[in-house]
Amino acid sequence: MYDELAEKGKLSANDALPLSYDQHCLVGVSKPFDPKEHDMLRRETCDFEIVIPKSDPFYAIYMPLPGDRVSWAVIHNVPKASAKEGEARFSEWGPEATAEMIDFVRHQPSPFKCTLGEVIDRTPTHLISKIMLEEKYFESWYNRRVVLLGDACHKVVPSAGLGANLAILDGVHLCNLLVDMPSPTQENIAIVFENYFNNRSKVAQAALDNARQFGKVMSNRGFVSEVVRKIFFNYIPDWMTRWQNTQRLQFRPQLHFLPQVPDRGTPKAQPQESRLFVSVATA
Ligand SMILES: Cc1cc2nc3c(=O)[nH]c(=O)nc-3n(C[C@H](O)[C@H](O)[C@H](O)COP(=O)(O)OP(=O)(O)OC[C@H]3O[C@@H](n4cnc5c(N)ncnc54)[C@H](O)[C@@H]3O)c2cc1C
Repeated sequence: MYDELAEKGKLSANDALPLSYDQHCLVGVSKPFDPKEHDMLRRETCDFEIVIPKSDPFYAIYMPLPGDRVSWAVIHNVPKASAKEGEARFSEWGPEATAEMIDFVRHQPSPFKCTLGEVIDRTPTHLISKIMLEEKYFESWYNRRVVLLGDACHKVVPSAGLGANLAILDGVHLCNLLVDMPSPTQENIAIVFENYFNNRSKVAQAALDNARQFGKVMSNRGFVSEVVRKIFFNYIPDWMTRWQNTQRLQFRPQLHFLPQVPDRGTPKAQPQESRLFVSVATA
């Protein structure tokens, strides 16, 4: 699709640029810890804890899993300007890059009365992965009869936990339009893809902004960033957090040809989109 758009001179300069890596991420699932010793493993709810060091340019997230295991992730933000050098020094994939990043982060304290390094040591090697994460909003979502969805047209760093959510709901929106399409003519396909793009691109852009801001709050270092973080985590009133969540999660299309799922979420969903072809389809 990109080749064809480029041939026609319709590929935007932004889309033609290669991706740059914005975050280096190390993830793993540990062997069981003793729940008697760790309050986090005894809680009714699956809360997760984040450790943000004062000066190191990375933070760690810990989540309890069934069987008293712990899922952990270390995220190292790479400033765009130095994405090809400086801090982006773990730029390779593979076991050496993994070992190098482990060495870099292992001294950090964890919520488990031990260092992050000891949590990592408690993790079988085959359950440790190092991933490089990119962030990019693409402008080309479709061409003729080809359409993109999910990470292929909007890559979001996982800071705000929105990437899979967006990908699934892209699929739902597109599916709702395609099943109603009266006939698969190029004209109808163009109408479907345009409607899909107009609706979902706004949501994707907002999610990217949200993930980027959250990533900055978590990763920026220095006095000002620390103050911002303190306010963000301690003094933002609940109603504002709920409002923010509503902004992120209000577009929740459902497949219109299946029984509707009741809206049990605290942030309520926007009403379902009206059906684009319904009058044609039922005529
Ligand atoms: C560490 C991490 C944590 C994350 N946490 C969250 C989270 O908490 N919440 C959230 O919502 N999102 C999260 N995400 C993001 C989420 O995983 C992605 O946004 C989502 O998986 C995108 O779905 P997708 O179907 O677009 O792409 P993918 O899941 O990448 O699926 C694409 C598939 O296509 C296959 N493929 C690629 N090339 C070819 C080919 N040539 N031929 C055939 N198959 C091919 C791939 O193998 C892959 O299976 C996280 C991502 C990472 C890396």
